[in-house]
Amino acid sequence: MDERSLSVVAVRSVGPDSVAIDIETPDEFDAQPGQFVKLTLTVDGEDESRFYTISSPDVADEFEITVGIDPDGDVAPHLADLEAGDEVRVSGPFGSDYYEGESRAVLLAGGPGIGPAIGIAERALQEGNEAALVYRDDDPIHEERLDALEADGVFVTVLDEDADLTDAVAEATDGGGQVFVYGFADFLDDAMAALEAAGVDSDEAKVENFG
Ligand SMILES: Cc1cc2nc3c(=O)[nH]c(=O)nc-3n(C[C@H](O)[C@H](O)[C@H](O)COP(=O)(O)OP(=O)(O)OC[C@H]3O[C@@H](n4cnc5c(N)ncnc54)[C@H](O)[C@@H]3O)c2cc1C
Repeated sequence: MDERSLSVVAVRSVGPDSVAIDIETPDEFDAQPGQFVKLTLTVDGEDESRFYTISSPDVADEFEITVGIDPDGDVAPHLADLEAGDEVRVSGPFGSDYYEGESRAVLLAGGPGIGPAIGIAERALQEGNEAALVYRDDDPIHEERLDALEADGVFVTVLDEDADLTDAVAEATDGGGQVFVYGFADFLDDAMAALEAAGVDSDEAKVENFG
């Protein structure tokens, strides 16, 4: 989809320094959880673009993105200030590392990477499939949805920022499945090392690097 102005449906706090933003789904926007969109805002008279990954299980009437906010960031704090009815400029979807109906999804998420991880886990359960989720963050977000996934039988492990991923990744991958990794580069490095330690080929993982 070329860039279009779309209406914000809702902005919700989902934990410390984090918001989920629901955006109206335009015609002919067929996207899967794990794909990302480009948002463009005008900040101090300049157009600024950033990428955000779809964190809803589907895009039926609206789709959700989950934004981690560094108060010193140029763009994310402005996204937190959006309100229902505001317009945002969106293009996409982009990316090829998304959920494609795999029978078991193993989701490794760092920081705001939990957005697509939850969206994919929810989608997998909706389709009668299985999921396991390892999430590393000092201030976990989306806790209600994580609790609901756990209650539905998903293996969920939440770790502190300093925690070693090795044991949790070994347990999550023990049942096989397609691995998905979402987060910033430092998390990706640790996740890849943990996969290799667990005997899983990290080249087979679907990976999205947030920067
Ligand atoms: C493909 C892709 C998908 C993305 N999906 C998401 C998403 O779903 N949700 C989301 O919140 N962001 C996502 N991002 C990151 C997002 O595009 C922005 O970079 C982020 O919101 C910071 O923008 P900013 O203008 O506020 O900060 P900037 O002014 O660009 O400053 C950089 C900021 O980025 C953050 N940052 C950079 N590197 C790291 C790091 N290693 N660890 C932690 N934080 C770091 C910090 O907050 C830092 O202050 C994605 C990026 C890419 C490339």
